[in-house]
Amino acid sequence: MKAEILSIGDEITSGQLLDTNAQWLSRRLEEMGVRVLYHTTVGDELDAIVAAFRAAIQRCDVILATGGLGPTADDLTREAIARAAGRDLLVREEALDHIRALFARRRREMPERNTVQAFFPVGSQIIPNPNGTAPGIDITIERSAGSPARIFALPGVPAEMIEMWNETVAPRLRLGGAGQRTVRHRKIRCFGAGESQIEAMLPDLIRRGRIPRVGINASKATIILRITAEGATPEECDAAIEPTAATIYQCLGDLVFGEGEEELQHAVVRLLRRAGRTLATAEWGTAGLLADWLGEMAASDDCYLGGTIVSSISSLEKIISLPPEGEKTLEADPAEVAKAMAERCRRQFGADYTLAVSRFPFADGPSGEPEQVFLALASADSVQAKSLPFAGHPALLKVYIAKQALNFARLALLADLRRVNPAVPA
Ligand code: ATP
Repeated sequence: MKAEILSIGDEITSGQLLDTNAQWLSRRLEEMGVRVLYHTTVGDELDAIVAAFRAAIQRCDVILATGGLGPTADDLTREAIARAAGRDLLVREEALDHIRALFARRRREMPERNTVQAFFPVGSQIIPNPNGTAPGIDITIERSAGSPARIFALPGVPAEMIEMWNETVAPRLRLGGAGQRTVRHRKIRCFGAGESQIEAMLPDLIRRGRIPRVGINASKATIILRITAEGATPEECDAAIEPTAATIYQCLGDLVFGEGEEELQHAVVRLLRRAGRTLATAEWGTAGLLADWLGEMAASDDCYLGGTIVSSISSLEKIISLPPEGEKTLEADPAEVAKAMAERCRRQFGADYTLAVSRFPFADGPSGEPEQVFLALASADSVQAKSLPFAGHPALLKVYIAKQALNFARLALLADLRRVNPAVPA
């Protein structure tokens, strides 16, 4: 069964409104094993909406439309469906009664204009909307070849649309044969190598037509591998996914830091808890981003003790002592400055580990070579520093360096844990 989502409204085509309905409905359809093949968005223009419905009827078995069911002149979905289906619009008394009752409940007079919401294409079914004036339309349309297409048109307001999906559309789709199969995804998240490098490390998993399917994408330097399986039950899907997940873990080792929606801070906090250790942070370039992420994660326990943020040489001098020509030291030996920040912060907070991020350079160096950002990690026995090129899109740099810092801490924590128990997984 192939499906199309049709989102209707100038608000969406003009970029004023993000089409979250299409995302939500696609997920629900996919969970029922219905393949969503098209997302179409069309503005409030009758001919264009009719054409969009006609195209969708030809190429898909199920069409989920949202928006344009209101009472105003720019709400054209009802009329467009009637035209695309070649049916007349007739008033349905039960729909009119519902709209009247809704106005009475709100102690408001029903404007004459709202009567249009009780008009339905001949042969269609009403989709009740308990909390809104716009009932939905469920209509089956014969096609010259093959089985008929079915349209479910719902109001644009997400809360109403969701309720109507749950109460009416999903059960009717199941009766129509959807939902016999289910689709499950498992997302494995990696950090520390690029998309193509990771793909090359995997044995031909990201191949068109492979079962289960493996997709790869990058989001702010995190690489996400998504395994998708279809089956009769969620358990069957999970069992089909498992061997592929195991191969990914085996091939990528410590590049994998988590699953699902986990971020690097989840992995760091998980390892700190496992080791019974604490962490503090000292930041310059990342300006508190690490403290924000870790603080949010570890709010309910004490594995993250807190952080220091500096924003200039003079504030740096308040936490570490620099020689009189501080700026020069910073330029001459920035790794030492990052290490000093980490050590000072460790003493200040009494933490087992501290992670420090040095100043970000303002631009590339005179030769055009990228300047370096320095990270340092202090523990009871050592202070390690690491440098990274200050390269990449400026808008992403702070997040990228903060993730690099967390990954630095994650790998060090893993190494420490494995000194005691070599079998500790990532
Ligand atoms: P109503 O009669 O309640 O206005 P309607 O079917 O006419 O219902 P629209 O007027 O198209 O719906 O949209 C109403 C509101 O619903 C929009 O202003 C917007 O806030 C929200 N909305 C519409 N379409 C979408 C969408 N695709 N994704 C998210 N929100 C949407």
